[in-house]
Amino acid sequence: MHELTSFLSKFDIDQEKLFMKVFPVVQEYVIDSIRPTEEQLRKWRNSPNGREEFRVYMTSKFTVPPTPSEVRVLWNIYNGRKQTSRDKKLIRCYIEAQREAVFCAHCGRKDGSFHVDHIVPLSRGGTDELKNLQLLCAQCNLKKSNGYDARKSFI
Ligand SMILES: [Zn+2]
Repeated sequence: MHELTSFLSKFDIDQEKLFMKVFPVVQEYVIDSIRPTEEQLRKWRNSPNGREEFRVYMTSKFTVPPTPSEVRVLWNIYNGRKQTSRDKKLIRCYIEAQREAVFCAHCGRKDGSFHVDHIVPLSRGGTDELKNLQLLCAQCNLKKSNGYDARKSFI
């Protein structure tokens, strides 16, 4: 719990209010930002060593290497398979421990405080959907609000 609290303290949000509401979005965001391409997934599905190559890929993306169970759940997520509630809990705990996976979508920095930014601002018709959210460090967020467009692909 301490880790999650300090993780969330990186975001400019009311923690009491949004603690449970925001984490699933952050988790989804982290998982989505390291999603392999469809072509990569197809290659791994058709190769006898595919699952091992997937494990190596996932290990390169995280500070704490995933256990075999965590690799299995991540594989199911990226291949659109159902997860049990136990799987969901497992992956949630894993992502919570991955604060290093959080980085500024524009400059890539991993330290300091972050803001959940709307790529298309709400005032211009943007939504709260994941595809319209990105994490920006405080400096990049400030530049963006001054008219600078920090939009960038994550992959
Ligand atoms: Zn930045």
